[in-house]
Amino acid sequence: MNVILFGPPGVGKGTQGEKLAAEEGISHLAMGDILRAAVRNGTEAGMKAKTYMDAGKLVPDNVVVSMIEDRIAEDENGGFLLDGFPRNVAQAVALDEMLSKRALIVDHIISMDAPEQSLLDRLCGRLICRACGFGFHRQYSPPQKSGFCDRCGGELYQREDDREEVIAHRLEVYREQTEPLLGYYQDKVGFSRLDASGETATVYAALKQVVKTQHG
Ligand code: AMP
Repeated sequence: MNVILFGPPGVGKGTQGEKLAAEEGISHLAMGDILRAAVRNGTEAGMKAKTYMDAGKLVPDNVVVSMIEDRIAEDENGGFLLDGFPRNVAQAVALDEMLSKRALIVDHIISMDAPEQSLLDRLCGRLICRACGFGFHRQYSPPQKSGFCDRCGGELYQREDDREEVIAHRLEVYREQTEPLLGYYQDKVGFSRLDASGETATVYAALKQVVKTQHG
């Protein structure tokens, strides 16, 4: 199964995508995580990406397209869930080309959304584990021991781009550049909208329902 999950920052793509990919036995390809790993490893692509990421801007298409193509090539037989890619229409066109070259199809294209205020609340309070990448929230899902991950004991941190002024810009970028993807995808086979304003478990149950549906 191949899935595209898209939606604004803070809507829960990472949390829901990770869980679904694990349950379905497919790879969770989160563009933001791939980019952050490249930054940490000091690769050429990572160095190019960092300034854009810190400012809440989209990293240039040629950088992200070739990174995701490499990852899809690794996972093409086992299925994948794309989270955070594509983020504009040019990336969606590039994705279609790379999939058709490999005779791969996308089974589900799921657009998640939630009211702006809840996105802001989720992003402002978000804490991430430096070691395993698991996410917490200061208020909604605090760790048992303040500052440390429940799963692996790693140190929790606030992402550089989860500061209030950067968040506002990321949401603007989403509305201007990513939301037009709705027009690109909404008539395609496998497209669904998912209300992601509820609690994690409620949203996950709805997501499972969507992927149980056979399209085509
Ligand atoms: P995320 O972890 O999905 O919130 O992504 C963090 C940041 O990585 C974004 O604000 C962008 O700077 C960059 N990024 C992630 N995915 C993409 C993409 N598909 N195209 C361009 N930049 C991206």
